[in-house]
Amino acid sequence: MDKPRLCENCGRQMDDEEIPYWVRLEIFASPEPPTITPEDLAQDHTGKLRALIEQMEKLGPDECQAQVYEAYRFVICTKCRNYFHDHLKQRRLDLS
Ligand SMILES: [Zn+2]
Repeated sequence: MDKPRLCENCGRQMDDEEIPYWVRLEIFASPEPPTITPEDLAQDHTGKLRALIEQMEKLGPDECQAQVYEAYRFVICTKCRNYFHDHLKQRRLDLS
């Protein structure tokens, strides 16, 4: 007997005839260079760099890397697939 196929999102056991779906998701920082204005150039860069380094030290290497690039891959059930699909299509998530 095959082992039960569990949805990696909701944990529900999928039916035998149910089609599992793969989700591959990559989240990474935009490769576009930022727009630099004359006001940006007039700022205190040393102070800003120091603040950035302090912020990175608090986060730790794993979280720093996750903010630049993170990839996920998991298998989900039809119900979760429909839920993801609807939300991604609308591109409006309730983040409250
Ligand atoms: Zn599910």
